[in-house]
Amino acid sequence: KTMNIAFLGLGNMGGPMAANLVKDGYDVIGFDVSADARAAAQSANVPVTDSLTEAVATADTVITMLPNGAIVKNCYEELLPFVPTGALLIDSSTISVDDARAIHDMAAERGLEQLDAPVSGGVKGATAGTLAFMVGGTDEAFNAARAVLDPMAGKIIHCGGSGAGQAAKLCNNMLLAVQQIAVGEAFTLAQKLGLKDQALYDVITGATGNCWAIETNCPVPGPVPTSPANNDFAPGFATALMNKDLGLAMDAVVSTGARAPLGEHAAQIYRGFADRSPGLDFSAVITTLR
Ligand code: NAD
Repeated sequence: KTMNIAFLGLGNMGGPMAANLVKDGYDVIGFDVSADARAAAQSANVPVTDSLTEAVATADTVITMLPNGAIVKNCYEELLPFVPTGALLIDSSTISVDDARAIHDMAAERGLEQLDAPVSGGVKGATAGTLAFMVGGTDEAFNAARAVLDPMAGKIIHCGGSGAGQAAKLCNNMLLAVQQIAVGEAFTLAQKLGLKDQALYDVITGATGNCWAIETNCPVPGPVPTSPANNDFAPGFATALMNKDLGLAMDAVVSTGARAPLGEHAAQIYRGFADRSPGLDFSAVITTLR
């Protein structure tokens, strides 16, 4: 394929995402500040460089997959002077809507198209190439990005203008956090009432309380053999990551003046739980209810 892709941030997510682009025939050059991350990517057949400027100098697409908004902003400041005219910038990190719009404006000042394209699906989805991309930006940029996102994606949704992808992601995860706690409360109450886990599962998954948090991520062992509860709550979706996303959601609640009493309570519960058990799947929150 003719496209030259610079992939910046070769961590748990970025490493396998870049590897899937290579597998699909794209010309990829990876960059990460960590030598270990570069070495891991290289052993997965991703060509790497230890120079950010070299990575972006010949790119027509630049993808970032970095830890947080401050780092993405710094990285954009460093790379923007060196990106060729006409290049498309795609940020797949999970960052605040405000930061997403700020980096979009930085790129626009240089006359470059830019998209926010956060993902869900975790390391499993990154490795399998089945991530869900939630994309914010213009129609032109979205259409140009589709072919590049495709080898990494199971689903690609254009959510609206700049920041809309991040907005969709944090609304979904705030809802998920509330649901996972609520499902935990239902099982905890049911157990105290002498109801069997399997019976409650069978009823709810066929009834109006059904949701992903019970159907797929059932927080008690048994009903769903693949759920983290059957494996000492190995993630899955780690509590620390859910806590990060809830922090972004709460920032947005405050900055917009939206009312989200249940989201706020869920964020408070996950803040406390993340201090104690950051590495467990977020469904392990049920253990705080017993
Ligand atoms: P990670 O910490 O494994 O990887 C981040 C990588 O960025 C690291 O290798 C780090 O060395 C590198 N890095 C830091 N500063 C850099 C810079 N200035 N230039 C280049 N590289 C730099 O994190 P991850 O799990 O891969 O997550 C990346 C992003 O994806 C985060 O925003 C996270 O919230 C989001 N996300 C993660 C998951 C998940 O399940 N892990 C799921 C969805 C979204």
